[in-house]
Order: sequence, then C-alpha cells, then structure tokens
Amino acid sequence: MVRKIGVLTSGGDAPGMNAAIRAVTRIALRNGIDVVGIRNGYKGLLEDDMTEFNRTDVSDILDRGGTKLGSARLPEFKEEEIQDQCIENLNKHGIEALVVIGGDGSYRGALALTKKGINCIGLPGTIDNDIPGTDFTIGFDTALHTCVENVDKLRDTSSSHHRCSIVEVMGNHCGDLALYTAISCGAEMVISPETGYDEEEVLEKLHYLGDVLNKNHAIIIVSEKVCDVESLAKKVTQHTSFSGRATVLGHIQRGGSPSASDRVLASKMGEKAVDLLMSGVGGHCVGIVNNEIMSLPIEEALEQPRNSRKKLYRLFDRLV
Ligand code: ADP
Repeated sequence: MVRKIGVLTSGGDAPGMNAAIRAVTRIALRNGIDVVGIRNGYKGLLEDDMTEFNRTDVSDILDRGGTKLGSARLPEFKEEEIQDQCIENLNKHGIEALVVIGGDGSYRGALALTKKGINCIGLPGTIDNDIPGTDFTIGFDTALHTCVENVDKLRDTSSSHHRCSIVEVMGNHCGDLALYTAISCGAEMVISPETGYDEEEVLEKLHYLGDVLNKNHAIIIVSEKVCDVESLAKKVTQHTSFSGRATVLGHIQRGGSPSASDRVLASKMGEKAVDLLMSGVGGHCVGIVNNEIMSLPIEEALEQPRNSRKKLYRLFDRLV
C-alpha cells in the first residue's frame, strides 16, 4: 500500500484547485497516507521545494481562488534527465505517488513519471474546459459565473446606448466558455472555434437585428484566439447601425472564489485520485462523464476527440 504521496498544481491556475489539494490531503491522511505539498508544479519537484502537510495545513483554502501551492511551467520537464532528477528528489522524501492537478501538458508529465515508476493521477484543473477525458474541468463553472456576471452588466449599459458589445472570453482553443456564456446571457451571437468566423456574416446578422428587427442592442460572445474583437468592433460601428464596443474579460476569469459546484467537483475528484493510488493505479486521469466520476488511462484520454457540443449550438440558435 502506498504510504506517502505528493500533490502539485501545474500549468495555468484555476479556481477550485485549492479544494482539490484539500480533498487529496484530507482523504489521504484519513487513510494513514502521508502527504507532501510540492510548490510550483514540476519546478518544485526539481528544486526540491516541498513540505509535509497535516490536516490543518489545508484549512481555510476551500473558498480561495488560485492555488496555495503555486503553479509554474517547466518546459525542460520533457527531458528525461530532468525527470530523473525529480524522481531522485521524490525518492529522497519517500514519496511513492503523485496527484497532478493541471491541464493536458501536466498530464503528459504525469504519464512520463508513471512510466518511470512513480504512479501519478491527473486531475483536470483549468477554466478552459479543454482537457480530454472529462465533460467538465475544475474551474470552468466559476469562470462561467464570472463571465455571466460581467456580460449581464454589459447588457445593461449596451441597451441604453444602441450598442453592440463584443465580449472576448477565454477557453484556449475550446469554445465551451463562450457557448455556455452565450446561452446563459441570451447573447445574440457566439463566435468560437466550432462556429468559425466570417466577418461579412456577422455584419449581415447585425444589420438584420438592428434594421429589420429594430433591436436596440446586441451582445456577441467571442472565444479568444478566433478573431480580433477590437477590429470587429470598429467594423460594426462603420458598417451597421450599432456602435461597436469590444471588451476583453481577460484574467479576471481565472480568479475569484470557486463556485459551490467547482468545490464539490474538486472534492469528488480529489477523493477519486487517492482511491486510485491506494489501489495501485497510476497513469490515469480523473473525469466526470455523464455526471459520474470515473478515470481512464491518460494515453487513452489524450487521444479522445473533444466532446461534441453540436446539440448546445443548435439550442443556442433556436433560442436567439
Ligand atoms: P497545462 O498543464 O495547463 O496544459 P502546460 O502545457 O504549460 O499546461 O504544461 C504544464 C507543464 O507540464 C509544463 O511546463 C511541463 O513542465 C509539463 N509538460 C508539458 N508537456 C509535457 C510533456 N510532453 N512531457 C513532460 N512534461 C510536460
């Protein structure tokens, strides 16, 4: 049976990571397993920056955004030599297994360590919802709430000024945050990697909304990296009856106290990670699929296609 495990957060931070750290620590300690908190992701493994956690070390963090352990990127971790140095540090502390909370890059690191004899379990932590093997990631729901709260405010002011608000949300290359925000806020349009971007089409739709339907405002939710929202806003002002205004929500989406839903998800996933390590399983990632907490081999997850949101896009179209 595993006697000592480590926990780290890696890649971009997300609200709910603290809830996951807490769950991993508390569940492990309850099972007589020692827990070591590793600072700053794989960087802390390499620099031997880690401390043993007791129960109260993870008190008062459940409601806090960010990650108590800090997160960092260590591109050199792809090199075997660096991985071996990290394993030496793990061995020195008697750490036999790891829980890695992060994105698919962090999963690849976890897989590399598992292949070298340290069982690792990956937990999906990101606001982007872009990790394979799960319907939802830890942090997505909180970021969605932040987006909705802000877009609701923008609608108040847009409707007073015959304005078209073009709001860029995060998501990396995944359109979920944009789509869920658009549905939640009753946006007039959504532009994401899944919908693609056609400037002419957007301007034509706005013309129809403004001049035919006589709408006095419009909201367009845009997924980051799909188009330049500032330039689209200028075009809207030039070519439609609306005054176009771009808003990039930016990093506020990564912060804030985790939603209840993210806290529960993180707690369930943390529990599952410890259960897997106690059963001697490594190289798996935990997910929630059809509302069930499950796990699958990281290699398998990384090959899975992204969940289709076709039905939700269809719903969005029917609601406009
Ligand atoms: P995320 O985990 O959010 O996808 P990154 O892609 O930046 O974020 O990955 C986080 C860290 O995981 C990297 O800085 C690196 O230390 C490690 N990592 C990423 N890709 C690999 C890989 N192919 N092999 C080993 N480690 C990796």
